[in-house]
Amino acid sequence: MSGLLDTLTRQVGLATKRISITTLALIFVILVCLSLAFIDGWRSWTARDIQLREMAISTSNMTRAMAQHADDMIKAADTTLVGLVERVQTDGTGPAARQRLHLLLLQRVDELPQLQGLFIYDETGRWLANALPATPANMNNSDQDYFIYHRTHFDSTPYIGLPIRSRSTGTWIITVSRRINHADGSFAGVALATVSMDYFNKFYDSFDIGRHGAIVLGLNNGVMLTRRPLLTDSVGKDMANTVLFRENVSKRPTGTIFIVSAQDGVKRLNSFRHLEHYPLFVATALSKDEILADWLVDTYVHSVGTAILLIVLGLLGFYLVGQIKQRLNAEAELIRTRDALEGLNQTLERLSLQDGLTGLANRRHFDLALDKEFSRAIRDASSLALIMIDVDCFKQYNDLYGHAAGDECLREISRIVKNSQNRPGDLAARYGGEELGVLLPGTDVRGAMAIAEKIRTEIHNLRIEHAGNSVGVVTVSAGVDALIPQDLDKPIGLIKAADKALYAAKSGGRDRVCETASFDSLNPPVVQ
Ligand code: GH3
Ligand code: MG
Ligand code: MG
Repeated sequence: MSGLLDTLTRQVGLATKRISITTLALIFVILVCLSLAFIDGWRSWTARDIQLREMAISTSNMTRAMAQHADDMIKAADTTLVGLVERVQTDGTGPAARQRLHLLLLQRVDELPQLQGLFIYDETGRWLANALPATPANMNNSDQDYFIYHRTHFDSTPYIGLPIRSRSTGTWIITVSRRINHADGSFAGVALATVSMDYFNKFYDSFDIGRHGAIVLGLNNGVMLTRRPLLTDSVGKDMANTVLFRENVSKRPTGTIFIVSAQDGVKRLNSFRHLEHYPLFVATALSKDEILADWLVDTYVHSVGTAILLIVLGLLGFYLVGQIKQRLNAEAELIRTRDALEGLNQTLERLSLQDGLTGLANRRHFDLALDKEFSRAIRDASSLALIMIDVDCFKQYNDLYGHAAGDECLREISRIVKNSQNRPGDLAARYGGEELGVLLPGTDVRGAMAIAEKIRTEIHNLRIEHAGNSVGVVTVSAGVDALIPQDLDKPIGLIKAADKALYAAKSGGRDRVCETASFDSLNPPVVQ
């Protein structure tokens, strides 16, 4: 596992190295922008979800309140009916009893605002008593569906009839009725309470359901009792074939679903609930677009804000990437300049230590090297040798062949002298004019003499014509000195000693090598 992780880290590291810092910065800017856009989108989608869920809960609560209201309203009317039935069955329907009944009905209608009227019919449908100030003559309701229902059904449960227009007031009403029996259980008539539909409508108007919302109160057989907004064909309309009723209301006691209206194509959140005690249901529908309207505005505002933020971030990011690019370019330029300067410095350093004509070390270089090697020889108690070389009769050479030829001759001689450097510490230098020096650390006088002699011979063997020199060719003389320097010794002493030997070589006839030790004796040994 850790091996895999290591490999992965290495791969990522390698990939990162391969990708330039500007590309990485660009990827970073893009990632930040994408993350922002994603987070805002996600937040917005979650807010939409929450809004829909909250509206489902509040729609369900609204429906529950309306179902409870309808249940209570009808129950109050029904409870009155129970009392009336009991009274009629006990007191009968004689003139005195009807008089008392009339007063009672007036009182009950007065007490219950939802009650539009109360009626007692005999077994033939004739009006026995009602809550109107005076009973109209010859009124018969035996043709009404609630009357027919009770005449043909023996049960003592209340019956909620189809919506009808009141014969007395002309307004839409809901009828709640109960059967009245004779003492032997036979049909004695009907007690009827009419509940004004306006009472429900006013209550439903108090809810905020938006422009495309709807509230429906219906019978469990699919007949609509009332609706908000109330359309001309709303009351009594059969909605048994609607998706809401067929697939939902008729199958479950309560529910909340989205349904696209077949009528206007609007998608609505529908919540329905059956009344607890009566065969009715209430359904509330809110337009999905209206539910999400606030969310949509919020999302638009957010999106615009996020877009502006993204643009600013993007621009800032690209500006930063540009700056990084410029800085990197400037850095690369600086590195190039530094490298060029370093190269130039090295050249200058080399030039400052090199003689321009011969390519040998110059006098400055020679002095520095002599000091360094002298100190080292003192430290190491090692031998340091110096060969001083001077071209013989060079003045005449210049006179005879010209200064340019003299320069060329010096270069040729210098090439030979340069080749005499065998060890890393050896240094061949132009000491001044046509005088050259070879510094040989760790070399004794014997070794230095051998090298000097080799130089002399090779120059002689170049056979550069020199009519002014006694041997006819260009030759050099050399003086050699070597010593193991002590603390008090100075480098100049070595130069002087080698110079002395050189002088001895010149005096001895030129084209030869002398060493200091031999110079001290009257008859210096000369190597030829
Ligand atoms: P000797 O050393 O054998 O005693 O005689 P010499 O003629 O070499 O002695 P001197 O020191 O008097 O002359 C040195 C000459 O070297 C003088 C100068 O014209 C010549 N010389 C010095 N430096 C250069 C140089 O860079 N180029 C040329 N062409 N000549 C140079
Ligand atoms: Mg000379
Ligand atoms: Mg000279």
